[in-house]
Amino acid sequence: RWAAATGDRKLLLAGPRSFCAGVDRAIEIVERLLERHEPPVYVRKQIVHNSRVVGELEERGAVFVDELDEVPENATVVFSAHGVSPAVRDDAGRRQLDVVDATCPLVSKVHVEAQRFARDGDTVFLIGHAGHEEVEGTLGEAPGRTVLVERPEDVADLEVEDPERVSYLMQTTLAMDEAEGVVRALQERFPALRGPGSDDICYATTNRQEAVRAIAGDSDVVLVAGSANSSNSRRLVEVAQREGTEAYLVDDVTEVDPDWLVGARTVGLSAGASAPTALVDEIVDALAGLGAVDVEERTTTTETVNFSLPKEVRFS
Ligand code: SF4
Repeated sequence: RWAAATGDRKLLLAGPRSFCAGVDRAIEIVERLLERHEPPVYVRKQIVHNSRVVGELEERGAVFVDELDEVPENATVVFSAHGVSPAVRDDAGRRQLDVVDATCPLVSKVHVEAQRFARDGDTVFLIGHAGHEEVEGTLGEAPGRTVLVERPEDVADLEVEDPERVSYLMQTTLAMDEAEGVVRALQERFPALRGPGSDDICYATTNRQEAVRAIAGDSDVVLVAGSANSSNSRRLVEVAQREGTEAYLVDDVTEVDPDWLVGARTVGLSAGASAPTALVDEIVDALAGLGAVDVEERTTTTETVNFSLPKEVRFS
């Protein structure tokens, strides 16, 4: 099947792509602990939603667990970049675990907003996807007062205590246009609606969506490196598809289907914020094996964000 996919082609690389500052920080936290501690180092949930990252850290001695009861008492446990609810923090305290918190500071910001709105007595609408770890953590800040809203259609059925006391927050990795649709529906039904001081959809999500949008129109097919459970990676595929271009999420190069490349003279390539650059390089190499590749990088913005590490891993 690969024979039909051979040919010279142009490759459009979306920039920025791949790791964001929050993912960089989370991975470095685990790496530093692995250097310092005898394995295992426990990590609650996947540190970031990428199977390559998780697999490589596992080989080096990280043990990923679903819940804290799988962690022996007094052990060190890392909270993932997606954040945790206060109930999980309390549980860790009760079990006397040594916590190193890799929650992205931009997720923590949403948690602080949830606390503030809830303290003011608001019903808080959290716009996001059910079941995502970040959403579960944020919902846990004010469980009785927070309501998950996934789609504009959900707004009509919402029941609130006081329509004058309502506010909204968002998951950090949503598609910008979709989230705006939900906000509009909320504003129409609740004119008193208050929002966060600054956008909850993070800079990395926004930048990667704009970059993939900028290459999609000129591409015959768009490939996005990222794992299926990575929200921001899946949104990149959808953004490209909404531009009218075929687009696919691939966990690694082995998932590239040669049929997608038949007749595709220009291939767009991006990677989610949790996907390592090596995945992109491997796809570029595979395409180069099919014919001459003319690589053009289209950078819509340059990122300079950097988050400091928590004190527990700032070894001298
Ligand atoms: Fe933080 Fe955004 Fe990266 Fe998530 S995608 S880890 S919120 S910077």
